[in-house]
Amino acid sequence: MKKSLFTLLLILGLTGCGLIVRDFRQIHRDALVVDMHSDTVLRMKNGTDISLRDTVGHMDIPRLKEGGIDLQVFACWLDTRTDRDSCRLIIDELIDTLESAAVRNRDDLAICRTAAEAETAIAAGKIAAVIGIENGVAIAGDLANIRHYYDRGVRYMTLTHTASNEWVTSSADTAPAFDGLTEFGRAVVRRMNELGMIIDISHASSRAVEEVLKITKDPVIASHSCVYSLCEHDRNLTDEQIRAIARNGGVIGINFYNGYLSGEFAERADSLWEFHRPQFDSLKTLYADNDSLYRAARKPLRDSILARLEGIVDVGTVVDHIDYIVKLVGPDYVGLGSDYDGVPSMPDGLDDCSMMPSLTRELIERGYSDDDIMKILGGNFMRVFHQVCGGA
Ligand SMILES: [Zn+2]
Repeated sequence: MKKSLFTLLLILGLTGCGLIVRDFRQIHRDALVVDMHSDTVLRMKNGTDISLRDTVGHMDIPRLKEGGIDLQVFACWLDTRTDRDSCRLIIDELIDTLESAAVRNRDDLAICRTAAEAETAIAAGKIAAVIGIENGVAIAGDLANIRHYYDRGVRYMTLTHTASNEWVTSSADTAPAFDGLTEFGRAVVRRMNELGMIIDISHASSRAVEEVLKITKDPVIASHSCVYSLCEHDRNLTDEQIRAIARNGGVIGINFYNGYLSGEFAERADSLWEFHRPQFDSLKTLYADNDSLYRAARKPLRDSILARLEGIVDVGTVVDHIDYIVKLVGPDYVGLGSDYDGVPSMPDGLDDCSMMPSLTRELIERGYSDDDIMKILGGNFMRVFHQVCGGA
């Protein structure tokens, strides 16, 4: 008997016996799906209208709906080198941008400050938008600014970014000026606990993560990080860190960036990048005064490099990282933190946020139960969101 005919008869037989064939689309629709990190608000600030389906970038409202994403954290990112006087202004403008998008799209998008608010918005068929800040440099060295951002609706803050700021060291810092967290850094952690703002340890150095976990009274998140044992990158979490986050009751959002998911991808990307460096450098010199012209000029070369890297990472690689954490500490401490619109390349089959259901299909194929899939897709983040920001 031909295999396809056998499969068809098997499915008909199972359906006839009253057994339900699990439909990944249905399970994905039933789940409360959370993406703990995107940088889309930066595209919005540069003029992208997220109410329209775009052909560039990774995320907009039509694609969020197609992807079945119920809660999206929009990270307001700030460069560590930003001067103190500008920090609050820049973050406030990014929040303003998100707020005005929510007003213009009030039937589809609602900014939510608590887990309860998010659940109400989702039940009404809207996407719950949660505001995050990526880089504690945003507080400009003043604890009062944490309250300011909290009042503006910010519910998590990533403590640092790819460079250390003055009170917390970054995972990318190879010669840190201090040991993890300063005394002021410890005060930031305590203040965030008092207010009910989630601490995000993605990008922080291992010493800083250790220090934060010693002090915090609440669960933390790593909003967009992967597993170091599967891809040895400083942005990823060691087994020891994963165990410590699980003991803390926190959650790790797996980052979809190919360079954090696969060592092979990172290696090949680095060597291609190095090979073409003289061409990038000459374009940079040519357009030294105009960053957007430089970006436009380098695009064809950049695209051709990315095209040569296709086929190394796919949706299965993301599930490998989820699987690793589940096997190490159980199904309660892992979620999704795509980094859409923040990184240059995504796995095959997860090219933008509309393709999120393919993750659910892969989880089913690996034998995950519906309950565990629900936790991974969003339940685990919602547990932390309730615990830290559940109140009014
Ligand atoms: Zn990041």
